[in-house]
Amino acid sequence: MRNLPVIKKQRLEGEFQPNLQRYDETYASFSWRDLAQELTRGHADVVADSSLNIASIAIDQNLSNGRGEHIAVRWLAADGDIRRDFTFAQLAEFSDRFANVLRGLGIGAGDVVCTVLGRIPELYAVCFGALKNRSIFCPLFTAFGPEPLRMRLDLSRAKVLVTSRNLYERKIAPMRPSLSHLAHVILVDVYQEQMLPEGTQSYGLLMARADPNFTIPPTRPEDPALLHFTSGTTGTPKGALHVHQAVMVHYATAKYVLDLHPGDVYWCTADPGWVTGTSYGIIAPLTVGVTLVVDEAEFDAARWYKILQDQKVNVWYTAPTAVRMLMKSGDALPQSYDLSHLRHAVSVGEPLNPEAVLWSQRVLGRPIHDTWWQTETGGIMVANFPAMDIKPGSMGRPVPGVEAAIVSVVNGVLQPLAEPDVEGELALRVGWPSMFRSYLNQEERYKKCFIDGYYLTGDLARRDADGYFWFVGRADDVIKSAGHLIGPFEVESVLLEHPAVAEAAVIGKPDPLLMEVVKAFVALKSGFSPDEATRKEIMALARRRLGPAVAPREIEFVADLPKTKSGKIMRRLLKARELGLPEGDTSTLERPVVATGGSR
Ligand code: ATP
Ligand code: MG
Repeated sequence: MRNLPVIKKQRLEGEFQPNLQRYDETYASFSWRDLAQELTRGHADVVADSSLNIASIAIDQNLSNGRGEHIAVRWLAADGDIRRDFTFAQLAEFSDRFANVLRGLGIGAGDVVCTVLGRIPELYAVCFGALKNRSIFCPLFTAFGPEPLRMRLDLSRAKVLVTSRNLYERKIAPMRPSLSHLAHVILVDVYQEQMLPEGTQSYGLLMARADPNFTIPPTRPEDPALLHFTSGTTGTPKGALHVHQAVMVHYATAKYVLDLHPGDVYWCTADPGWVTGTSYGIIAPLTVGVTLVVDEAEFDAARWYKILQDQKVNVWYTAPTAVRMLMKSGDALPQSYDLSHLRHAVSVGEPLNPEAVLWSQRVLGRPIHDTWWQTETGGIMVANFPAMDIKPGSMGRPVPGVEAAIVSVVNGVLQPLAEPDVEGELALRVGWPSMFRSYLNQEERYKKCFIDGYYLTGDLARRDADGYFWFVGRADDVIKSAGHLIGPFEVESVLLEHPAVAEAAVIGKPDPLLMEVVKAFVALKSGFSPDEATRKEIMALARRRLGPAVAPREIEFVADLPKTKSGKIMRRLLKARELGLPEGDTSTLERPVVATGGSR
């Protein structure tokens, strides 16, 4: 990776201070036990295995701390200028009611409650109601077709599904007979008994009849709480199960990484159908009692800038794909909005190209802070912290309480690669509270992820002499060419430096001589044509910056790159198409790719 200037952070004397000011000291003195005491105000001794319930921490504790009338969720409707605010006291009541609804239906601890809901207020009552009842909350993405939904409902053995009438009739009803575990379907937008499709119940009627008070039964830190499916970027999505004590990581990272302070307005743009949208779009911000902005609408650059402005968003958690789309919409657009309230911008989901960090520094006036984690880790593991200098292109340093290492596994034995700047697999020492506890129905696969007390992430990275981690690529995506290991991220980041390039993905294409050569798929910004001159220019830039061994041998222009519905580039699909192989599981694919130019 080219040596870009470090973005230096200044200490603000007397002004606003970040929660984590001295990384090394905090990292050295941190313990999860102390964190648990802080989180529960000393009421629960998590180590002694007493009660720790996510909903009690995220919702009810705000009432006992005098924040009952504080706005917990500010919901912005997709249509019109409708805005609805919900206080912590209201969320406490709604979730109590929904917990009673579940109990009344005979749903208990360990039963799975799925949602197929857009970003609407009911989602929050259902999530926390299920958690209060010690049921397992499993949000599914509304854009899934019937088959991906059937697979997930089946695999999770969901007993309850909360959805809308339209989604139910279009996607679920035709396959309902095959969902043998599904006992109850609750529709959020049908209010009259006679209007209900057969075999469904009305959310509104059930809630109205339910007792508004619910006492959370003792919940052990190891009780299952959340079920999330991975994005399916590298293969068939896996179901990762998390437990109630994951809330310790949600809280610690809300404090240290998102740097949330009481009174803040926070916006997470991820959909709750993915782990980010639940860990950081529902739970984490409420554990620190801030106001969470929820936008029902899909991406629109002008709308997003307007939300940042009008809602006076202080902290914003988004994704590289969204940042690239904002970059595509031009530098002039944000100039007409007042973004002065935005204190901290953060990203996750894919590598954040240095170009994006520099763009946000230049155009938005503050750099975007990259964070790395996975569905399996349940919360942020590696991050750029507000008080820490940023090296553009680096994922940052491990969260306090998380031990990250670069390792290689040789003949089933783990070898730590302690020297700086050596590439290897990113591994995490077992022991952080939000680690997944199983892959649904895949015990062997789960076991294979662990070796000698470490969890192997499947991502390749390196750590520099200052302790910063740099993403190289997914182990599956790394290209082996003429004896070199080439990480796609480095090549793609250079391609993105060309002013015509909007998005880029590279794969290894089999080559009889070199084993593989790098092939790039490039989507251009509007106004640029996919012609030979542009191809040559991009190729020349890549050769100059990367050298001929690493630069792409081929560039194919495409209108769009295949991505998961959560916005991740699916390189495995580009490769399968290139090689004429079966595409494998495409249940999370967002849209087909259309070629606009030939390849060479
Ligand atoms: P599947 O496991 O089904 O193939 P997935 O790995 O994309 O899908 P997620 O758990 O949603 O599913 O994504 C986690 C992965 O996303 C990480 O393992 C990593 O490859 C990538 N990722 C997340 N954040 C970053 C980041 N900041 N930099 C680089 N890669 C990232
Ligand atoms: Mg994965």
